[in-house]
Amino acid sequence: MIELDAIDVSYGNIQVIWDLDLHVSEDDTVVSIVGPNGAGKSTLLRVMSGLHPVSDGRVSAWDADAATLNPTEIVERGFVHVSEERNLFGDMTVRENLEMGAYTHRNSLDDTMQEVFELFPILEERSDQLAKSMSGGQQQMLAIGRGLMAQPTILALDEPSEGLAPQITDRVFGKIEEISEEVTVLLVEQHVNRALNMAERAYLLENGRVVREDTGTGLLESDHVKDAYL
Ligand code: ATP
Repeated sequence: MIELDAIDVSYGNIQVIWDLDLHVSEDDTVVSIVGPNGAGKSTLLRVMSGLHPVSDGRVSAWDADAATLNPTEIVERGFVHVSEERNLFGDMTVRENLEMGAYTHRNSLDDTMQEVFELFPILEERSDQLAKSMSGGQQQMLAIGRGLMAQPTILALDEPSEGLAPQITDRVFGKIEEISEEVTVLLVEQHVNRALNMAERAYLLENGRVVREDTGTGLLESDHVKDAYL
C-alpha cells in the first residue's frame, strides 16, 4: 500500500500540492486520479515513485517511510510507474526494452515476458524490431509491458492515451481493464469519462488539492464533474 498523508510538494519555492491525502492498495482494482492540466497529477506519481521529495507530510510505502527508500526499492516493493513520456530506449529492440523492465526480477524474466507477450501479442511479433520504429499505440503497449516486467502489485499509468487515436485508445484501455484483473492500476487520465467509468475509487484534483474523492460512478454523477469535465 502507498499512502500520502497531508503532503505538500514544491518545485523550488513554488508549491504545487497542498495538504493532500491519497492511498492505493493492492486490494483496489482501479483507482483513478483525474483533473485538468497542471493540477499536479504527474507530480503525485513522481512523489510516490520516490523521484520527487515532499516538503511536508509523509509518504509511506508498505508501512516504510518512503523518504528512506530509493526509487529502485519502491519498485522492488511493488509500485511501478509508467511515465507520460514512456521513456523507451528507441535504439534498442522491443525484447531488450522488456528485459530492462525486469532489472529487479532477473530470475523470472522469461516467464514474465511470456505473460507480457500473451497480453500483447504484437510485442512478440515485433520483438526484434527497434522500439523507435513502432507506432504510437505499440510504443504505449511496450511501455506498459515493460512496467509489467517489474512484476508490480500496483501499476501507475500516467496518461496512457496521450497522443493516441481514439480507436487505439480503446484498445489500450481494453488492455488496462485486463491488467486490472491481476494487478492494481493507478490511472492518471485526462479522459475523465473513461477513467471514472473504470475506477472503483477516484480522486478529482484541482490546483494541487483533492477536491473530491468518491467511487468512479459517484464522481461521474456529481454536478461539479458533469459541469466542468463532461
Ligand atoms: P499535465 O496533465 O499537464 O501533466 P498534471 O496534472 O500532471 O498536468 P503536473 O505535471 O504534476 O500536473 O504539474 C503540476 C504543477 O507543477 C504545474 O503548475 C506545473 O507547471 C508544475 N511543474 C511540473 N513539473 C515541474 C518542474 N519540473 N519544475 C517546475 N514546475 C513544474
